[in-house]
Formats: sequence, C-alpha cells, structure tokens
Amino acid sequence: MDEQTIRADAVATLSRYVQFDTTNPPGKEMPAAEWLRDQLLRRGITNDVTIYEPAPGRGLVLARIPGNAALKPLFINHHLDVVAADPTQWTHPPFSGAVADGFVWGRGTLDIKNLGVVFLVALESLLKERVHFRRPIIFSAVPDEETGGSQGMRWLVENHLTALDPEWVWDEGSGGFKGIFGPQVMFGVAVAEKQIQHLRLVATGEPGHGSLPHNNNANVTLLRALQRILDSPRPLRVNATAAEMFQSIGGTQKFPTSILLRNLSSPLMLRLAAQRLAADKLTNALLRDTISLNVLKGGYKVNVIPERTEAEIDCRLLPDTAAEEFHRWLRARIADKRVKVETIESSPPSGIAPLDTPFYKAVTNAVRRHAPGAEVFPLLVPGGTDGRYFRSRGYAAYGFGPMILERQDMSRPHGIDERISVENLMLGVKMARDILTELCA
Ligand SMILES: [Zn+2]
Repeated sequence: MDEQTIRADAVATLSRYVQFDTTNPPGKEMPAAEWLRDQLLRRGITNDVTIYEPAPGRGLVLARIPGNAALKPLFINHHLDVVAADPTQWTHPPFSGAVADGFVWGRGTLDIKNLGVVFLVALESLLKERVHFRRPIIFSAVPDEETGGSQGMRWLVENHLTALDPEWVWDEGSGGFKGIFGPQVMFGVAVAEKQIQHLRLVATGEPGHGSLPHNNNANVTLLRALQRILDSPRPLRVNATAAEMFQSIGGTQKFPTSILLRNLSSPLMLRLAAQRLAADKLTNALLRDTISLNVLKGGYKVNVIPERTEAEIDCRLLPDTAAEEFHRWLRARIADKRVKVETIESSPPSGIAPLDTPFYKAVTNAVRRHAPGAEVFPLLVPGGTDGRYFRSRGYAAYGFGPMILERQDMSRPHGIDERISVENLMLGVKMARDILTELCA
C-alpha cells in the first residue's frame, strides 16, 4: 500500500465530493450519486452498480461486490445529503472542498461524505492488492438521511430488504472521542438509538372576549397541562447499553467517579451519581426518556380568548421503554379531557445490536492497531440515524466513524467550519481496510 498515493487520492476525492451541494432539503443528490457510480466503476471496485430514484432528483447508489453466495453480505452505507450551511460564517466556503492547513474543509467532511470516500479508497486499494473477498459486500449511498430517510434508507429497506439481507450493517453514528470522557481516546460503536415520539397536544376551550376572562381558555388549559408534564421528568434508568457504556467509560476516570460509573446498574450508585448525570445534557439523554417542548401555537389577537391551542413536543424514549406505557404516563400527567394527544411521527423500538459479533470484534481490533491505548465502548445514540431501519427489523446494525474528534470539533458537524484533518481521513482508510479484510477476505 503506497500511503502517499492513497493519501493524495483520499484528499482529492473528498474535496470533489464536497463540491456537490446536496443540502437537504431539497437534497438533489442525483449528480453526486452518478459521480459515485462512476467512481465505483473507474476504480474497478465493481461493475454491478444500480442507481435508484426513490423520488424525483434523489439518487440512491447500490453496488455489489460479489463473493461466496453462502455468506450473507456486509452492508456498508453512508448518506449523500448534508444539512444547510451559511457561507458568510465559514473560513472557506462550505461547498468549495478547500484543502488548507492539513484539512479538507466543507459541509459533509465529517457528516458523512468522509465515510463514503474511506470506503471507496479502502476497497480500491485492497482489490489492487489482489485481496479476494469471500463475503459479498454491498456498498450503498442513500439520500435523505438528514430529514428522516423516508426517501432514502427507509425506502430502500421497505422495498429491497430481502435482496439485501445483510449479516452486519456498517453505517455512521459514532466514532472516536478525545478529551470528552477523560484524556484518553474512546471509540463509541453505536448499537442502539432512542425511539422517536413526535407528539402534538391540542387544547380546546371556549372562545370569548379578552375583557371577560373565564376558566375555559385553551391557552391556559394547555399551559397547565404542559407544566404538569415538565415538572415531573421521567426517572433516570440504566438500560443494558448504557450500563455497558458507563462501565467502559468508568475505567478511564479517576476515583470516585470510576467506581460510580462502573457500577451504575446498582440503584445506590445511580442515586449517588444522579444529580451530576442529569445536569449534563448528553448523559441525561442516555439515561431517561426526554421531552423537549419545541413548538407553541396559540391565540392570534390580544383581546380574543382562543378556542384552540397547540404544542409540539419531541419525546425520545430509551430503547426498552414501551411506547404505550409512555403514552399512559403522559395522559395521566395531562389529566384533562380538553387536551388531546396526536402523533406526528413515531419510530418503532430500536433493537440493540449484539456486542459478541465478528463485526464488533473487527472494529475493536482495528482501534487497537491504529489508535493504541484507545478504548471501545457500545453507544446508545440520543438522536436518530438510518441504522434504526435495520435494527428495528432485527438486523445487527452498527454506527462507527473511523476518526477521532476532539472537544472543539464536536460542534462542526451541522455547525460552522466543518473540516476533517488529512490524518483523520487516513486513519479511516487504514481502519476500514482492516475491518473489511477481517470480515470479508
Ligand atoms: Zn450523518
């Protein structure tokens, strides 16, 4: 493997990929999808490449590298779309793909065009070295991840799952962290995610004139119901994934935090650590069902009592919370027949990818080899990713970004000045080569 050539290729390829503006909405991923298809063909990775168009202008690439038909494929995926970027705030324009100061700059360099380039370069270099893949590999690049995947991964899984039927799924969702859980590098592998319940509360009352207030004002009814919900947060609870996760992180911390975190499944330890865990928004989200009140719509004129008021709440449930139980709890808090609950969107329970698989082992081995001293831990993802479409159907889907982010980088994905260091990009290529070889060669 000629590292210099591979490095230059990875940098130039990512720089080009970033220049396709795939801001979603609207996405318009087709030109980027066609370019990716050409990359797969030109690099000699495979000739079996199909482009689907789940909705007008939305390209979805599916490529197969053949192997032994008796083995189920490894499915490697990334998404083509990115979130919006305001160019006035950036050091280098977000769709320029500028290469400067040892970084490739631009929207998508961390989330997650980098992963697509890592897969391309790793596959090509292995095939050029005449590595033979026994296990088939499916390479996919999907549109529409950033707005929920209904025209991307959800469409693919609903229409083509039997033909895909993967042994393991490797997608985005986590990666290496430095200086976040202590000084040491910790690699998270996403194995589960929280369930989405986007709900609308609608209160109705009696309209009237503001000069004659009465006790059936829809605004007041809704406000009081919301107050009862927000005043009683759901309990902190250590689910199996969080227990494993905190146990690994505990090993990197000083006493007494180390003891607390390693034994968090004990109710006493949880009580002792509760205040600190709840004060941090990330640990809070990993240990309880959360509710965020994000939209309020009520009234239209200062002297008119409204007859209808709405609120939208973003509820995220732990993988093992039963949605029906949560809804019962919510109605008990509301305790008012004038307030109805409507579901805007909900996801099925996540499912949890097992830790005792060759995939998890291959990731652990790659981390040990290329980031000596780093730990690997299973991660519960507070947000939603495309992995849920596989996990909810019982497939072992993992989120793993083969790169190391520092604390100051955490706001760059979806933020300003997104960029990846050339070193990080190469770390990804090396790890991907090892993982692909261990699982498929
Ligand atoms: Zn992403």
